[in-house]
Amino acid sequence: MTSSFFPPQRTLMGPGPSDVSPRVLGAVSRPTIGHLDPLFVQLMDEIKGLLQYAFQTENELTIPVSAPGSAGMEACFVNLVSPGDTVIVCQNGVFGGRMKENVERCGGIAVMVEDAWGEPVSVDKTRAAFAEHPEATLLAFVHAETSTGVKSDAAALCALAKENNALSIVDTVTSLAGIELKVDAWGADAVYSGTQKCLSCIPGISPVTFSPAAVERIQNREHKVQSWFLDMQLVMGYWGANTKRAYHHTAPVNDLYALHESLVMLQEEGLENAHARHQRNHEALVAGLEAMGLSMAVAAEHRLPQLNAVNIPEGVDDAAVRTALLQDFNLEIGAGLGALAGKTWRIGLMGYASSPRNVVTCLTALEAVLSRQGATINVGAALPAAKALLTD
Ligand SMILES: *Cc1c(COP(=O)(O)O)cnc(C)c1O
Repeated sequence: MTSSFFPPQRTLMGPGPSDVSPRVLGAVSRPTIGHLDPLFVQLMDEIKGLLQYAFQTENELTIPVSAPGSAGMEACFVNLVSPGDTVIVCQNGVFGGRMKENVERCGGIAVMVEDAWGEPVSVDKTRAAFAEHPEATLLAFVHAETSTGVKSDAAALCALAKENNALSIVDTVTSLAGIELKVDAWGADAVYSGTQKCLSCIPGISPVTFSPAAVERIQNREHKVQSWFLDMQLVMGYWGANTKRAYHHTAPVNDLYALHESLVMLQEEGLENAHARHQRNHEALVAGLEAMGLSMAVAAEHRLPQLNAVNIPEGVDDAAVRTALLQDFNLEIGAGLGALAGKTWRIGLMGYASSPRNVVTCLTALEAVLSRQGATINVGAALPAAKALLTD
């Protein structure tokens, strides 16, 4: 007989999922009600309002897609790209590559703007791509590249799209609630995110928001959206205002309790306070790592506070360190991805995981494991350096 599964209590400091708040875990286990129950419909309306706050938008079409961040990505592309469309795609890590794949699967032509992994998207190169491809109807880029820990200038890129009469598709899976994100003020058109990064929520849901211009483009499509499940015109029959809330698919009722709770928590804390908390814990972690003798992989001005890429010291066994952290300290950190595999660790401080306690846990565990491996580090220096920057 197979028995019940009881996972250990890990500390999740990788690229996601990140630690889930106990309040959110409590919410998931509340009684399931029908997905067309009038009380559930009320909850859906509250979620839309709370998501508008998180995204800083008044977009009517602001909803959670019932699937992970990758589905939110796909929802943006399948609804906005028609066969033959030219899309400028910026790539400076893993996720830009997936955007290209999405464009091509929709029958579009992807014009790539490539930047080195570890660098932000170049606004100048993107401007040059528009000059070369005036037929481009969309610009797609990642605001916070989780594969490298780099932030790009989303405001400038969205403005550039507008100047060129193109709509923007922005990946904010890791940025939402972790760093400033102003959908309306920046003029972003199709924006998707995820629940398991800086929202302190369980994985599996993708908040999305579409500007009125994006909605108009969707309504005027000549070709049917290739995906039935992600076709926003159909989804709106269930999530839209002033509709009968007709059955489209069964909403993940309990997951949406979780999302609602995490958004209530975000509203209670306030967006600006949440950003400040991510920044403060990031600075303390970096101070500790540098005092230990490690170096950061990304230049200070481009770093994401919620995803810290650290260079793996010469001669250290990457996998052995991560295994020891997990087995001996119940601590998960992320490996490098793609071009950075084996070269960096990715230490997440996302959402509920962005706490002084986790900074201290990570520095303590890493110091113990690295010393045991015989790495040359400054023992005893990390915690005082970090604590000096932790105010609570
Ligand atoms: C995690 C992530 C995704 C994918 O989200 P899933 O929920 O894993 O599908 C997309 N883009 C970025 C930048 C991410 O960090």
